[in-house]
Amino acid sequence: MKKVFCIGELLIDFVAENQGKDLSKAKEFSKKAGGAPANVSCAISKLGGESLFIGCVGDDPFGTFLLRILENEKVDISSAQKSDTFTTLAFVSIDADGERDFVFSRGADKELTYDSSLKSRFENNILHFGAATALLGGSLEETYNRYLFDGITKNAFISFDPNYRVDLWKNKEDVFIRKCHPYIEKSHLCKFSLEEAQLLSGKDNLDEACQVFHEMGTQIIVITLGSEGTLLSTANFSKTIPSIKVTPKDTTGAGDAFIGCLLQQISQHSKFENVLADEKLLTNMVARANKAGAITTENFGAIESLPTLQQLDS
Ligand code: ATP
Repeated sequence: MKKVFCIGELLIDFVAENQGKDLSKAKEFSKKAGGAPANVSCAISKLGGESLFIGCVGDDPFGTFLLRILENEKVDISSAQKSDTFTTLAFVSIDADGERDFVFSRGADKELTYDSSLKSRFENNILHFGAATALLGGSLEETYNRYLFDGITKNAFISFDPNYRVDLWKNKEDVFIRKCHPYIEKSHLCKFSLEEAQLLSGKDNLDEACQVFHEMGTQIIVITLGSEGTLLSTANFSKTIPSIKVTPKDTTGAGDAFIGCLLQQISQHSKFENVLADEKLLTNMVARANKAGAITTENFGAIESLPTLQQLDS
């Protein structure tokens, strides 16, 4: 089994109690672990895969809380770092339609430094990049770029999720696009939402968007479409794989559950080329990942809602 190295942020989401989008009126918050790459690492290990998290938290009680959660989910945190800067915090309110309002206080996540000892461990393994905060600057961005280029040289399988957040990139969309392009060019697998696919390709039509990404070098493209399922595209075929019917309560983490489940399945194969060449296998993998995403929407929160192997098989 291959290891999956998940690189990026781990932070506290203070989620406003009593739903309603207006954060200025929120009185009480509950403390949750957040950060897409960290969610992905948990999704993988919950399904029996081997995942490692590479990110930075503050040397404070919130950092301790976050690392403990990952450890409880059996994620390898031996490469996680702690800094003197406070743990990154996000204050979030969500209304009944899933609309969000948030205030972001960026701390330790941006301070991740490059660890050259990991380079040899990437060989024949998987690197997953989630870019929500990484491309906002700080030494994390430089570290990210170093891992991207080093990861490639060591024959690793590269996966990328842009994790676009409208509020973080308002009026700077062109910068986001420019920063994401090298990741799309170097990745074997890219996962986009509908909005990300259109933004990063400059095409409204999804077939044309996939064409752009394939020309940039990505071999497998998955575009998640919520209750509509997922568009899967390779150089040889393109199809939409339906999701299962659920009654969603909270869609937070569905995309992370999806990509985590897909990577966990890919990690079971010694040769990526075999996965890529087998349409049926890839289709089944995406159908299973759809199921993981759907199950995650049935409960509140991200990590606590990720399915276990038993739930996924039932
Ligand atoms: P995120 O905001 O977490 O990054 P995303 O936009 O990338 O999420 P979604 O499309 O919301 O991802 O969800 C990922 C997958 O989960 C979908 O492709 C689908 O298979 C499944 N899923 C999500 N929402 C639903 C739903 N309401 N009903 C059924 N399946 C769903």
